[in-house]
Amino acid sequence: MASEAKVGVRRYENYINGEFCASASGKYFPVIDPSTEEIIAEVPEAGEADVNRAVAAARAAFDSGAWPQTTAQERGRILFRLAERIRKEAASLAELEARNSGKPIVEAEYDIADCATCFEYYGGLATKVLGFVNPVPDNAISLSLKEPIGVAAQIIPWNYPLLMAAWKLAPAIAAGCTCVLKPAEQTPLTALVFAGFLAEAGLPPGVVNIVTGFGETAGAPLVRHPDVNKIAFTGSASVGKQIVKMAADTVKRVTLELGGKSPNIFFADADFEAAIDGALFGVFINQGEVCSAGSRILVEQSIYSKFVEAMAAKAKTIRLGAPLDRETKMGPLVSRDQYERVNSYVALGKTEAKIAAGGERPAKFAKGFYVAPTVFYDVDNSARIAQEEIFGPVAAVIPFANEADAIKIANATPYGLAAAVWSRDIFKAFRVVKALRAGIVWVNHMQPTYVEAPWGGYKQSGFGRELGPFGIDEYLETKQVHINLNEQPIGWY
Ligand code: ADP
Ligand code: MG
Repeated sequence: MASEAKVGVRRYENYINGEFCASASGKYFPVIDPSTEEIIAEVPEAGEADVNRAVAAARAAFDSGAWPQTTAQERGRILFRLAERIRKEAASLAELEARNSGKPIVEAEYDIADCATCFEYYGGLATKVLGFVNPVPDNAISLSLKEPIGVAAQIIPWNYPLLMAAWKLAPAIAAGCTCVLKPAEQTPLTALVFAGFLAEAGLPPGVVNIVTGFGETAGAPLVRHPDVNKIAFTGSASVGKQIVKMAADTVKRVTLELGGKSPNIFFADADFEAAIDGALFGVFINQGEVCSAGSRILVEQSIYSKFVEAMAAKAKTIRLGAPLDRETKMGPLVSRDQYERVNSYVALGKTEAKIAAGGERPAKFAKGFYVAPTVFYDVDNSARIAQEEIFGPVAAVIPFANEADAIKIANATPYGLAAAVWSRDIFKAFRVVKALRAGIVWVNHMQPTYVEAPWGGYKQSGFGRELGPFGIDEYLETKQVHINLNEQPIGWY
């Protein structure tokens, strides 16, 4: 039997087969507000039994044929209704997201609006999935049909909780797949609120199931489950590698987005004010907890000293504060684990490079996982703080001599998610764009992300693309159909 929730602590439930339910073990685990370190909710600790139930529900919804055979128009309408509901509840969703993740409320509001836009985009795209007629050299019609892959397991991180759920659920629903989503254990709340919108929007039971739990005990059984056809994962590189191995046994389709160590490259001819602004925004937005964070800041030698000085001076003025304060630019990190991890990199950085800003716990907070925006400079690209993803507000500024040098340093990383280049010389900027080994490249900006445009990495940042038409393709199989138009026997024997 489930124990009673603590007074004042809201208890949430898993969502399986269209119903909210406890986990089989009856166990719950606490969810923290990272600015106060207080428990704000508890959620079921799902294990293998719950994963099995959720997968069975998803499998039945798919195999009964009812869901994949719904018309694309109907799936589109459901997605539009979900978008509308998200917009209607945007204020409370944003507040819950900010409280649970620590991100500033203003950013949480953008995230929630982006969630709605994502459902709208795939609502529209549902009716625009086209097959092909293949020009085969026979008296026949040859078709390529697009069909849903089946049951998708979707495992997401804690930095953009509901937005990462939207990026995965919306294209899957549009494609006619069924889903089991596992939010990150740190930030499961908005996804569970969203679960409450599904039935009202017209989604049949079992099409989307949401289980909350930890990676080893809920994520891994989901990845290994033989009835799952596809895995979509966003998270750390180390877990991504384990997922590929686990998925191999049943040859599941896998897409991975595994973060990076993205270079933000500044040439001397860039607009200086815009450059400093872009460097800060690129690395400190969302407390630096961004897979595409511009955490390696490459600066041309002739502006290097001035750049470090200006960047450090501005970094010191960034307003840290409570997530729900509208003036806050950076909130706390998501969890004690992440706080300790980031601080250990700050300590390491002090042994590897020089420090121009940050490096101490901001004095004004008695509680909460706050880390000051930290700027290291004279960083060698081979240093650990330049090679390892920190996932916090820590910048490594690296000087470069010329264009060739910038490209060489930028590409000298196992990752390849994103990059940016700042210059007013379009020939130089585009030469660098072509030379960068990254899935997303910005020119004179860093971070804007659009549901219309593909998102994903080169190299060890993963494979597959989310968003845009690419995003729905990852939930579709291609069936080749050959229709013979000769009525006579082929006369083989
Ligand atoms: P972080 O270490 O920053 O929390 P993770 O990659 O561990 O990043 O987490 C991203 C998501 O992957 C979370 O939902 C987490 O629960 C899940 N996860 C972690 N370990 C595993 C695993 N072994 N198998 C499946 N999912 C996992
Ligand atoms: Mg982890």
